[in-house]
Amino acid sequence: MDSNEARRGLQSAGRYMLDNNLAWGNAGNISARLGPDRYLITASGTRLGELQDDDFVECSFAAPLSKDRKPSKETPMHRAIYEQRPEIGAVLHASPFYSTLVACTEIDLPADLFVEDMYYLERAEHVSYFHPGSPELGEAVRAKAGRANILFLDNHGELVYDTSIREALMGLQTLEMVCRMIVTARSAGLELRSLPAFTVSDFLEKSGYRPRREWPQ
Ligand SMILES: [Zn+2]
Repeated sequence: MDSNEARRGLQSAGRYMLDNNLAWGNAGNISARLGPDRYLITASGTRLGELQDDDFVECSFAAPLSKDRKPSKETPMHRAIYEQRPEIGAVLHASPFYSTLVACTEIDLPADLFVEDMYYLERAEHVSYFHPGSPELGEAVRAKAGRANILFLDNHGELVYDTSIREALMGLQTLEMVCRMIVTARSAGLELRSLPAFTVSDFLEKSGYRPRREWPQ
């Protein structure tokens, strides 16, 4: 993706996130890959719903490539994902209400409830709490990056990444919906009916919904 395309894509993703309760206030930071070792990330202090043309910083894996703005201080975890997963094109970090509520509990996320849930939540992992922007959080994310496309940052928020901005956004929205469904069902005393494991694996292998993800070994 060239940097104009990445910037426009991230601006519209940020607006979409605010408009759909997938982000709030000035929390969250988002990025898109520009090349094998480059990515564009929101600058420090920006608001996802109103990203201006100069609210981004191009970075290489080694360092930011411009001195005008500082990249988000949470850059280490974005970089860790781009380094570990060459096929990843976009990383979204946000703390929407229901997903963050679940990230503050021990609830396990089901991936056997409905179509998008089976696909986007096929693998999700927890990452223990470390302060935002710390090298420790970056390294904890690096350790789990290959095992999932959704990371729950305990008592903090979510990291969702995929081949494109559009797919990452769909993953984030699906995650928020699943969490909302679980919490709503619990509050209402409803028991959710899961699909059987063989149906889920049959769906992932044969339904043609999306090509099966190839997970790093
Ligand atoms: Zn954060």
